[in-house]
Amino acid sequence: MKSAAKSELFRELPSVDELVRAPRFATLLEEHGATAVTDAIRSVIARLREQISSGLLDGAGLGLALEGLNGAVEAQLRRVLSFSLRPVINATGVILHTNLGRAPLSKEALAHVREAGLSYSNLEFDVVAGERGKRDVHVERLFRKLLAESLPPHVETAASAVPRGRSPADPSTVSTIVVNNNAAAVLLALNTLAEGGEVIVSRGELVEIGGSFRIPDVMAKSGATLREVGTTNRTRIGDYEKGINERTRLLLRVHRSNFEITGFTEQPSIEELVALARRRGIPLMEDLGSGALVDLEKFGIQGEATVLDSLRGGVDVVTYSGDKLLGGPQAGLLSGRSELIARMRVNSLFRALRVDKMTYAAIEATLLAYVKREYGKIPALRMMNLSKEEIGERAESVGRRVQSGKVKIEIVDGESVIGGGAAPSSALPTRLLAVTCSGVSADELSERLRASDPPVIARVEEGRVLLDLRTVFPEQDHLIVDALEHAAQL
Ligand SMILES: *Cc1c(COP(=O)(O)O)cnc(C)c1O
Repeated sequence: MKSAAKSELFRELPSVDELVRAPRFATLLEEHGATAVTDAIRSVIARLREQISSGLLDGAGLGLALEGLNGAVEAQLRRVLSFSLRPVINATGVILHTNLGRAPLSKEALAHVREAGLSYSNLEFDVVAGERGKRDVHVERLFRKLLAESLPPHVETAASAVPRGRSPADPSTVSTIVVNNNAAAVLLALNTLAEGGEVIVSRGELVEIGGSFRIPDVMAKSGATLREVGTTNRTRIGDYEKGINERTRLLLRVHRSNFEITGFTEQPSIEELVALARRRGIPLMEDLGSGALVDLEKFGIQGEATVLDSLRGGVDVVTYSGDKLLGGPQAGLLSGRSELIARMRVNSLFRALRVDKMTYAAIEATLLAYVKREYGKIPALRMMNLSKEEIGERAESVGRRVQSGKVKIEIVDGESVIGGGAAPSSALPTRLLAVTCSGVSADELSERLRASDPPVIARVEEGRVLLDLRTVFPEQDHLIVDALEHAAQL
């Protein structure tokens, strides 16, 4: 197009001021205010200007675009004024999907968050004494109860061999504090217990957890020096012993959250580490990461030691996430010997890493479900507990309800995973909807499902879209039906 013709088109563009005053935008103005509407009109006109410049619009095209100006401005307003953070349907079968927000909160947790957020609260106020209190009390009381309940008095534990008052298995000597996430918990613990000194870690545990959490990096930031012992596949208790010197402040065990080392491997037991730590008078810390609070064997998950197991076993401090197996909000919890936790509480880093009232509210409600043994109220645990048969029945029902002749659905066996760096070797048997759509590739179909509202996130494998209803709330099943119908129509 000639530049003369282009400048002709530019002249046809109405001015932003003129448009803002035009009657056709009166309703939008009333609804969204002058600032938002003016900005939206400006963006739409700027887009048209660009399209003229690049020769994408001729006279007829511009005429059409100007006729549809209202619609374009409305769409622009919707884009700008709608939330960016929005719900999606997780049909991946990964229960603690880090990119999808890990654990969904329970209704009870959310109700308590609402209460704490909408009004003032006794977050740091002792109502009886009428003076300043500590925010930790809200979580600590429930945690002690859980620890006490999991420890019948007649049971002989490893820790009962330890002098009285030093045993972390005695609930009254265990404290818990909460920080922003588990990475922050590890940073705070290392800085408090080992700044300027050395921390002994097995080479087999120098892990990177998704989202770039690396023990050596966190160690460097904490001001402690990492002393690696053993080899990637084998570390013996003697390796730890040889690594100890006058600068050693801490023995650290890191849970191998997202990988497994199999074959020719060796790792000292917690008992051996506890015994060594006691003998040399050095605290032992365990970064559990996932940090289950109940034995997950009844949910089909083997070999995940719980937070309470570690404390009962004599570990001095454990760190774990609030939004992994615990099934609560994003948080990092530190539980352990009261005198060590007290040192963390007075560290100025704690002030920088602490969490707000809404997080306390969500954790408190989640822990209360554990105290009442109402595990079914915690969505992550409920999802783990679903049987393959239940999921299969729902999948069949969704499959039957999809009417489109273009969509072919098969119900097949598959596996769901825990995710979030928990129980890397555990897979839960499930039934999947395996979907194909005639004339549409699996990648294209999955893209269309993501474009539905709310977006449906699925897996693509071997030319099929796989949907796992384990991580879909039953009340969302009909949305999967709608999304499949809609995707086939496009
Ligand atoms: C997940 C995990 C972390 C990081 O926890 P965030 O809550 O994501 O900060 C650290 N260590 C281990 C072992 C983990 O599994």
